[in-house]
Amino acid sequence: MIVIGGGDTGSDCVGTSNRHGAASVTQFEVMPQPPAEENRPMTWPYWPLKLRTSSSHEEGCTREFAISTKAFTGDGKDGKSGKITGLTTVNVEFKDGKLVEIAGTEKNYKADLVLLAMGFVNPVGTVLEAFGVEKDPRGNAKAGTDVVGGYKTNVAKVFAAGDMRRGQSLVVWAIREGRQAARAVDEFLSGASTLPR
Ligand SMILES: Cc1cc2nc3c(=O)[nH]c(=O)nc-3n(C[C@H](O)[C@H](O)[C@H](O)COP(=O)(O)OP(=O)(O)OC[C@H]3O[C@@H](n4cnc5c(N)ncnc54)[C@H](O)[C@@H]3O)c2cc1C
Repeated sequence: MIVIGGGDTGSDCVGTSNRHGAASVTQFEVMPQPPAEENRPMTWPYWPLKLRTSSSHEEGCTREFAISTKAFTGDGKDGKSGKITGLTTVNVEFKDGKLVEIAGTEKNYKADLVLLAMGFVNPVGTVLEAFGVEKDPRGNAKAGTDVVGGYKTNVAKVFAAGDMRRGQSLVVWAIREGRQAARAVDEFLSGASTLPR
């Protein structure tokens, strides 16, 4: 199986696939392989990149860098539809600040499962749209975090918190926002709240 995306979620996919008994696991990262050690003298605004190897990677995985997927192949009559059988890649490099394909580096991989872990965009819009909840410019539920009126959306009695409100984030933020939103709802319903903020 192949994981497209070299971030934390991709790493989780690698670990989970191994634990489910995948025969082989390959992970693609579009960016070049970072150095084993960060460049310590590097200063802001540059970010000292360093190759990160997670415990999931250590469980077993081939990591390919500077690689982009061009096409999927399937067992359908047209070779594209049906159940996935593989994909075609090409190597890429930075030229004038842009990632460009390197001619002649196309390669075919066999795969019966491909997981896409290329980043989050925003929450699925259908629930927000069904409620008529206004979105922020990033497509998240628009709601503030003020002490008064926090977590309220534009729709009466609809509150939003966590990833749905702030976008992809961390569990600590989900816990904080969940607690604060609970207090905001309590205040809305009871006029006051003794819940912690
Ligand atoms: C692969 C991956 C790895 C991550 N690793 C980390 C990590 O190591 N550390 C960290 O801090 N954070 C991590 N995160 C981020 C973290 O998981 C989120 O920030 C956090 O879970 C957000 O919590 P939440 O309650 O806002 O949303 P969620 O945890 O996404 O909860 C939303 C819930 O709503 C449910 N739901 C959706 N639609 C409906 C519906 N119509 N009706 C009812 N229920 C519905 C969903 O099933 C889900 O249970 C990771 C995220 C991903 C995807």
